[in-house]
Amino acid sequence: MDADVVVIGAGALGLSTALHCALAGRSVVVVERHTAGSQASGRAAGLFKSVQADELRTRLARRSIAKAMTFADWAGTPLAVASSGSFLIARTPRHRRYLEHELAQSRSWGVDVRQATPVQLAELLSYYQPAGDDFALWCPEDVYIDEPVTFIRACTTACQRLGVVVAEHEPVIGISVKAGRVAGVETERRSIAAPVVVDAAGGWVRQVAELAGASLPVAPVRHQLLITAPTAQVDPGDPIARVVDAAVYLRPARGGLMVGGFEPEPLPLDPRDQPAAFTTDDLPLDLGVLRHLTDQVAAEVPAAVTTPVAEHRGGLFTMSPDGRFVTGPVPDLPGLWVASGCNGSGFSSSLALGEALASWITTGSPAQDMTALSPGRFGVLPDDALVSRGLWQYAHYYDSVLQVTA
Ligand SMILES: Cc1cc2nc3c(=O)[nH]c(=O)nc-3n(C[C@H](O)[C@H](O)[C@H](O)COP(=O)(O)OP(=O)(O)OC[C@H]3O[C@@H](n4cnc5c(N)ncnc54)[C@H](O)[C@@H]3O)c2cc1C
Repeated sequence: MDADVVVIGAGALGLSTALHCALAGRSVVVVERHTAGSQASGRAAGLFKSVQADELRTRLARRSIAKAMTFADWAGTPLAVASSGSFLIARTPRHRRYLEHELAQSRSWGVDVRQATPVQLAELLSYYQPAGDDFALWCPEDVYIDEPVTFIRACTTACQRLGVVVAEHEPVIGISVKAGRVAGVETERRSIAAPVVVDAAGGWVRQVAELAGASLPVAPVRHQLLITAPTAQVDPGDPIARVVDAAVYLRPARGGLMVGGFEPEPLPLDPRDQPAAFTTDDLPLDLGVLRHLTDQVAAEVPAAVTTPVAEHRGGLFTMSPDGRFVTGPVPDLPGLWVASGCNGSGFSSSLALGEALASWITTGSPAQDMTALSPGRFGVLPDDALVSRGLWQYAHYYDSVLQVTA
């Protein structure tokens, strides 16, 4: 045996799982097709959000915030985290009701979230000019990591200090199965024997699972953001803002403003249908989508529309039919595990998800009930249903409860 655990993919989810397995004393090899963090994780907005749609995701999100804030203490490597807090803002009566529902629900799960007055909104958020009838929640626990690549570097360094091998430019091209259980991986260069293989291949997670004959319920969907040029309209100490009726998020970045959002008609893109060499660099970006979203907040956030764009980037979310992570042992194939179904929160939940998965892998049982995230929970689902349900979850990122209960 060459390693106790092989992790496929050095994004946030793979590196966190590797790190937590190494902390539990396991020998780990991470095999990465390109470079660590080069795909979705290095392009994320870096936002952490304590208010989530269910109790398990809330617990994972808050645990991740706590672990990010104390990263140097337990991982032994510094990590800069902006303790900014965030506002959730609603400008329609319908979305106000939705936020009232989230306020009550999240508080019952222990989240520190409070109703904010219009004065607080105006005073604390310099880039946002409230119309006066905005309804806002203040979420003091929320944080962000300014440059997501710093998180990847910190995780990689922490892994390597614990002896984890992070092998870059080494695509996995096969998963070996012996006597009905996983026995290791084949890369373009070598065979690595291991009783545990974790598929954390992000947008490529389905095709990697297929190497072992397994099927996973995720649909890759494009997501984009932009960063404006520096502007005096943004105070670098400003909090995050999420305008839920416009499905737009904002935060300070590089002296300007980061703006991202969730369009109602998102673009599914399955790397399995693309040439084998497809990477995130080949993803077609469309600034028009972001322009349409920023137009919806033009009155409140003039900097979003009047400041030139300094950077426009995007990548693939892995959406699941119910908006929840797809994490745990793959059914009917002992030794194969998955860390995926990010649904747009894989960066921020990676520390808690990796911890939970590593604990399950190394002790043989989950430390908390993870049934709701089970990769097998949808049974057999045709691809068109998988994609259409994933697109629905994407389009209703901030208000899925509202849509379901309306
Ligand atoms: C623009 C944008 C903004 C986002 N903002 C946020 C945010 O604010 N907060 C948040 O929580 N999430 C955010 N996300 C989502 C977040 O980026 C993802 O949930 C997270 O990065 C997923 O991590 P991952 O490890 O699954 O995937 P990835 O980072 O894509 O890593 C998967 C890795 O697997 C590798 N791989 C693939 N196939 C193989 C193979 N055959 N062999 C070896 N390696 C392979 C890939 O090269 C890749 O490096 C955002 C995403 C985008 C695109």
